[in-house]
Amino acid sequence: MRVSNAATGQMSSDLFTVVASGCQVGAGSSVVQSYTVAMNQFSALFKRLGATGAKIVSVTPASQETPKSPLAVNSSAPAKKAVTSSAPKNKPNSTVPVNTYKPKAPFLGTVTENYSLLKEGAIGTVQHITFDLSGGEPQLEYVEGQSIGIIPEGEDANGKPHKLRLYSIASTRHGDSYQDSTVSLCVRQLEYKNEAGEQIYGVCSSYLCGIEPGSKVKITGPVGKEMLLPEDEEANIIMLATGTGIAPMRTYIRRMFEPREREANGWTFRGKAWLFMGAPKTANLLYDEDFLHYEKEFPDNFRYTKAISREQQNAKGGRMYIQDRVLEHADEIFALIEDPKTHVYMCGLRGMEPGIDEAMTAAAAAKGMDWSELRPQLKKAHRWHVETY
Ligand SMILES: Cc1cc2nc3c(=O)[nH]c(=O)nc-3n(C[C@H](O)[C@H](O)[C@H](O)COP(=O)(O)OP(=O)(O)OC[C@H]3O[C@@H](n4cnc5c(N)ncnc54)[C@H](O)[C@@H]3O)c2cc1C
Repeated sequence: MRVSNAATGQMSSDLFTVVASGCQVGAGSSVVQSYTVAMNQFSALFKRLGATGAKIVSVTPASQETPKSPLAVNSSAPAKKAVTSSAPKNKPNSTVPVNTYKPKAPFLGTVTENYSLLKEGAIGTVQHITFDLSGGEPQLEYVEGQSIGIIPEGEDANGKPHKLRLYSIASTRHGDSYQDSTVSLCVRQLEYKNEAGEQIYGVCSSYLCGIEPGSKVKITGPVGKEMLLPEDEEANIIMLATGTGIAPMRTYIRRMFEPREREANGWTFRGKAWLFMGAPKTANLLYDEDFLHYEKEFPDNFRYTKAISREQQNAKGGRMYIQDRVLEHADEIFALIEDPKTHVYMCGLRGMEPGIDEAMTAAAAAKGMDWSELRPQLKKAHRWHVETY
């Protein structure tokens, strides 16, 4: 589990650039990689690099470096743009990029990082995967709330190339390294037992979860305008996420509260943001330290409420799901929804929708409102945003 800069509370001046060489990737090629990390991340990084046979070339304070890709940089890769470049800083929704790369001519991104987001004892596999997008003509740009398509390697059962799968983007438009040249995803490996009792693993999610840094991946998109953030700095943002549905929420929260994002965007969020996150176990919470950190730094603007189904109980003594938390806070949620500046975002597995709907119906009824009438009104006003899969 990697701890992000946000979680450590480090300022950029406390970051270090670690350059390593001799990392064996793909079919034995050797690359030079550089990483920007806080001091307390050294031991995890050195351990990880040691396991790949890499050698540490240098460790320098990041503030002394000219900005360059902090992740896998092939020495022949084109120079990166600084965060202050012409990339979409605060693109209005009407000019959001869509389908820059289509399935017939996808962009070939390079994997720079692939690490687990889970802690010991968690269920399943969930990885944070980053791709280098530099060198594209046109540049693959995106904004918070969009998705990209991934075309897995290989062929389907009919001998045809695999179809693309969509994944919500988990990084802001500036990327995790603030270089405007990467995109990150948060991917859960699909696994289930079929009727014959055999263990089945999803094609694309397994391909992504197991992919090595340095590998080239076919990327399409970006797509989607359903989950875009409002431009109003005083909007209120209620976020309902389960599992990897946290991906778009992470982008919003970074855009709203990460100091380097605020600086780069010139967009200073002043509204109320409230994240409801559902997970089966504490070990399955994704980006938890980051959110706790933002909650500590922005107590008047950010609230973080968790529903951990296998560890917490709802008021009836049953498992605590996200809809139970929604019911618990119904009054405050509806007081916010009555404010026309409030937007609600829901993302995760499709199965979460009926539970949320039920909770909203009960919560609305308690305030003398009819959710079946209110929801279409919110939708029409572009204040109810749902992306479930
Ligand atoms: C807009 C959008 C955003 C998305 N964002 C993300 C994201 O951020 N992170 C993420 O991890 N995923 C995300 N997904 C889901 C992703 O696109 C893939 O669907 C997922 O990774 C599974 O693909 P796969 O190739 O691994 O599975 P496949 O090999 O395609 O297998 C999927 C098929 O397996 C079958 N199946 C699945 N579960 C069961 C079961 N329990 N029992 C029986 N059969 C079953 C179904 O037929 C299903 O169609 C998103 C989807 C959409 C539409």
